[in-house]
Amino acid sequence: MRVTFLGGLGEIGRNCAAIEQDGRIVVVDAGLMFPEPTMYGVDLILPDFRWLIERRDRVDAIVLTHGHEDHTGALRYLVKDVNVPIYGSPLTLGFARHRLTEARVAHDLTFVEVADNERRRIGPFEVEFIPVTHSVPSAHALAFHTAVGVVVHSGDFKLDLSPIDSRRSNLSRFAALGEEGVTLLLCDSTNAEEPGFTASESTVGGALRRLFLERPERRLVVACFASHIHRIQQIIDVALQQRRKIALMGRSMEANVKLARKLNLLHVDTADFVDIENVGRYEPGEVCVICTGSQGEPLAALSKLSRGDARNFSVGAEDTIILSSHPIPGNEWSVGRVIDDLHRAGTEVIHSGQEPVHASGHARQGELRTLHQLLRPKNFVPVHGEYRHLRHHADLAASMGLADKHILICEDGDQIDVTRAGISRAGQVPAGFHYIDGSAGDLDERPLEERRMLAEYGVLQITAGVDAERGVIAQPVRVTTRGWFEGEHDRDVVDAVTTTVRDAIQSALKDGIVDDESLTKIAQRAAGRLLGQKYRRQPVLLAAVVVL
Ligand SMILES: [Zn+2]
Ligand SMILES: [Zn+2]
Repeated sequence: MRVTFLGGLGEIGRNCAAIEQDGRIVVVDAGLMFPEPTMYGVDLILPDFRWLIERRDRVDAIVLTHGHEDHTGALRYLVKDVNVPIYGSPLTLGFARHRLTEARVAHDLTFVEVADNERRRIGPFEVEFIPVTHSVPSAHALAFHTAVGVVVHSGDFKLDLSPIDSRRSNLSRFAALGEEGVTLLLCDSTNAEEPGFTASESTVGGALRRLFLERPERRLVVACFASHIHRIQQIIDVALQQRRKIALMGRSMEANVKLARKLNLLHVDTADFVDIENVGRYEPGEVCVICTGSQGEPLAALSKLSRGDARNFSVGAEDTIILSSHPIPGNEWSVGRVIDDLHRAGTEVIHSGQEPVHASGHARQGELRTLHQLLRPKNFVPVHGEYRHLRHHADLAASMGLADKHILICEDGDQIDVTRAGISRAGQVPAGFHYIDGSAGDLDERPLEERRMLAEYGVLQITAGVDAERGVIAQPVRVTTRGWFEGEHDRDVVDAVTTTVRDAIQSALKDGIVDDESLTKIAQRAAGRLLGQKYRRQPVLLAAVVVL
C-alpha cells in the first residue's frame, strides 16, 4: 500500500493524494490554490498531475471529501486526461458538477453519489464515507479498508457538537474503527497551532441576531462564502425573524442556494426572496442582502459594491456591511482594501476582528486530540497545512504517545509505503506548482520570473543601426524605458547606458564584427553589466542592433 501526496502538504490549497494498492490507484480530492499577489497574471495554481496522467490506466476513481475549491477546483483539468468515476455526497458532486459544466467538460463524466456512512467497493478498496462537520454541508472523512489495515483520511473537519443541520461527526464510528485498529491516519492540520476548540457554527447565528436587532432601521448586507450553506441558513433565519426580505447577489451565491434548496439542505420559501434590482423599492429595514466576495475577490459582489460598480444596487450611509468570514492567508490585503472602500462609501462595516461573526471550519488542538484518541492510529501523517501546521500536528501526535518512527512529516511529491509494521518514505514524484493564466494557458516558472522582473525593475530597450561597409554607427543608439521613474536620476542612468552601449558597438566594429546577432549581444551585455554592477538594477533588456 502506497500513498503519494500530490498537493496540500506545505500550503493551504490544491489538495490531492493518491492511494495505491496492487498497482491500482484511487485519487482523494483534486483541488486548486489561489495565487499570491506577486504571481503576476496567474489565476490558479494546480497540482502537477503528470504522475497521475502517466498512470491513467491504473486510476480507478476520484473520491471527493467535500465541495470546497481547494478539494475540487482542479477537477476540470484532471478529468480531461483521467476520466474515471467521481464519488462524493450529492452536495459535493453538485458543486463540482456545476464547475465542470461551466468548463464544458462534464458531458461524458460519471458521478456516483454516496450516502452518509455508506461503505462501497471503489477500486481495490472498501471505502467508507463517514460524516464530519465542516464549513460546507455533507463533508466526509474517508476510511479505506486496505490489505494492510484501515487508512483514515479526515478530510477537512471540526468537531461541531451543535451543527446547524444536526448532522454531527460520527464519533462512535471513529471509536469503533479505533477498536478494530487503524494502520494510518491522514489528518487536517489547518488549525493545529491553535489551542482549545473551534467555536460551533451555531454561535455565529447568535452574534448575527444581536447585530440585526441593534439595527432595525438599517439595511444589512452580509458577505460570506457561497458554499457556506449553514451560514447562509443562519443569515436567512435571522433576517426572517425581523421580517426582512432576502436578496441574493453574486452568481455563485444564486447557483449554490438553488442547489442546496433542491437537495433540501437549505430551508427558505421562494416568497421570502426579492430580486436584487428591486431592493431599492423597500425601506432599508425591510431587506437583507447576502452576497459573495468576503475574500476581497475583485470581480465578486462585495468588491463591486465597495467601488460603486454594481449594476443594480449600491450601498451608502443607511447600510451595514457584515463580513461573515475570515481572510484566507494571502487575501488580507484585498479584504483590507474592500473594507476601506466600504468606509469611503459611507457604510458601517463589521468584520470578524470586531464581532464573532465567523467560526472556522477546521479542528483546533482539542478536537485533533479527540480524533487521535478515538482512532488511536498506529501511524500518522499530518496533511492539509503549511509546513508549520504539519509540524505542530506531528508534535501533537507525539505528545499523545505515538513513537517518532510512526510519524512522518511529508511534503508535496513525497511517497510513503504502508505495511502492517509501519510507514516509511518511498520516493518522490514531481509535484511543483502548475500555474494557470486564464488568458495565456499554462505557465511555467520562467515567464513568471520575467513578470516579477518586469514588475520590480521595468524594461529597458536599446536600438541602433550600423553601416557594415563603413564600420560606423549609422543610426544612433536609442535607449527607451518602461516602468522607470521620470526623475533626474533615471535620466542619468539612461544617458550612461547610451554612452556605454555606443562605445561597446564602436569597439566591436573596429574589431571587424559586423553581423547583427553578435552586435545585439554585445550591446545587451554592455548594458546589463553597467546596470547590474553600477546601479544594482536588472530590468528586462530588449536590444536590437540592425545592420543597414
Ligand atoms: Zn474545506
Ligand atoms: Zn481544505
